[in-house]
Amino acid sequence: MSADPTNRESQPQLLLPIDDFLSRERAPKIPAPSRVFCNRSLKLSNIAWVGFDMDYTLAIYDQEAMDDLSIRATVDKLVLRGYPELIKSIVHPTDFPVRGLLIDKRCGHVLKMDRYKFVHRGFHGLRELSQEEIKELYHAKKIRPATPRYHFIDTLYALSEVACYAAIVDAMDAKGYAIDYAKTFTDIRECIDEAHRDGTILDAVMSDLPRYVKKDPSLAPTLHKFRSTGKKLFLLTNSRWAYTDAMMTYLLGGAMSEYPSWRNFFDVVVVAATKPAFFQERRVLLEHVEGGAAKPATFPLERGRVYVGGNLVDFERALGVGGDEILYVGDHIYGDILRSKKDSAWRTAMIIQELEREIDAHEACRGDHERFEALDETRASLEDELRFYQSRVKELTRLLDAKQPASAGAMPLPPPALEAERVRIKRAIERIRGLLREAEAEGRIIERRSNLRFHPYWGSLMKEGREQSSFGKQVEDYACVYTSRVSNFLRYSPQQYFRSPRDVMAHETE
Ligand SMILES: [Mg+2]
Repeated sequence: MSADPTNRESQPQLLLPIDDFLSRERAPKIPAPSRVFCNRSLKLSNIAWVGFDMDYTLAIYDQEAMDDLSIRATVDKLVLRGYPELIKSIVHPTDFPVRGLLIDKRCGHVLKMDRYKFVHRGFHGLRELSQEEIKELYHAKKIRPATPRYHFIDTLYALSEVACYAAIVDAMDAKGYAIDYAKTFTDIRECIDEAHRDGTILDAVMSDLPRYVKKDPSLAPTLHKFRSTGKKLFLLTNSRWAYTDAMMTYLLGGAMSEYPSWRNFFDVVVVAATKPAFFQERRVLLEHVEGGAAKPATFPLERGRVYVGGNLVDFERALGVGGDEILYVGDHIYGDILRSKKDSAWRTAMIIQELEREIDAHEACRGDHERFEALDETRASLEDELRFYQSRVKELTRLLDAKQPASAGAMPLPPPALEAERVRIKRAIERIRGLLREAEAEGRIIERRSNLRFHPYWGSLMKEGREQSSFGKQVEDYACVYTSRVSNFLRYSPQQYFRSPRDVMAHETE
């Protein structure tokens, strides 16, 4: 029996697969904290070699455990240098410092700057500096952070120095000790370096890696994914061989059956690279000899061997590719990212461990940001009104003073009416000024609330008010891409084209 063509009920609806496809929901986006963010477009398909730093890049340290360890070691050494015993019993607030702070060694201050090196906030010890103090010390003249008076905090490893410094300045000031702020900071730096050199810190980490290092189960598959599309990998670390071997064995040893040892993941391994000197000087590349003295390296470099030191020029020649085919992944803005960018053509990926927290705070502030923008618009239109009424008052005043009718085109009014108009407009001006004050007060409340969502002392890591922070600016200038951890690359194709957002200038936002 044939179907009646006029009877729609009897005709089965033919569904094209494309309809089904289109009706599906959109593919989920990669969650923001796990995304790779792009400043300068990067095609992974053009990358032949991917290099990795180790500490705070492949190895994610537990910041609090590391800070406690470093502070204990430093304080013990400071007491041996004659500092009062009380510095052992005080609290060294590890939640105080962030990256990107500037130490003013002369005054014992810790400062945060925006992208123009303009100081916005600061602490003396743990006391917040007033805006008057900041203005007097830092605003009259442009500060020069690269001079010996200042020290820039640009690694996570250096955060413990700041916690230590602020707590000691605070405690010694409170007890009335005479304190040389510059010398105290230098002493802390020396003691912490000594604790690294003499093994106090590294031995403690190696003896209890699970306590100090967070293992990332996605790290091995990420490196494997790069390798599986034909990319070659190298490790370039400042750490020495014994520490590197222990750490990498902990991170990657036995992670995937295809790789009997961590060393199988890498085509070239360089330890004790002394970055940033690696990028700037012609140090000789040596080969590590187990149980003996290192010997000069022979070329070509061989997989399975371990190299020591070296320099950018010889290294690039050994890899046999142009610098722009190398992507280097590191955490240190100066040693890894800025130097490789300034001194070579290497593409850079910066690991910013704090980014997950920063993005969470940014998401939590979304409502505040919207309100802030609305307030901006309100303020702009109130200022337009204010300007209009103020010029109107001037005009009326001029007319009244001259005792003459309004200028051509305006409605001529007798003086009493002009006066009444002027009083009415003056009242309107007062009302507008009141609304502006209210908008500004609300803006300040929102700003304070947003800052607290980021960090109790310093607000956002990457921003300062509306501007980028000096740290955020460096990230933008020197990191082609940035992300919170190496394994975030696992979510992308190894041939991914990371596109930078279009630069927008102020006049284009109108
Ligand atoms: Mg590092």
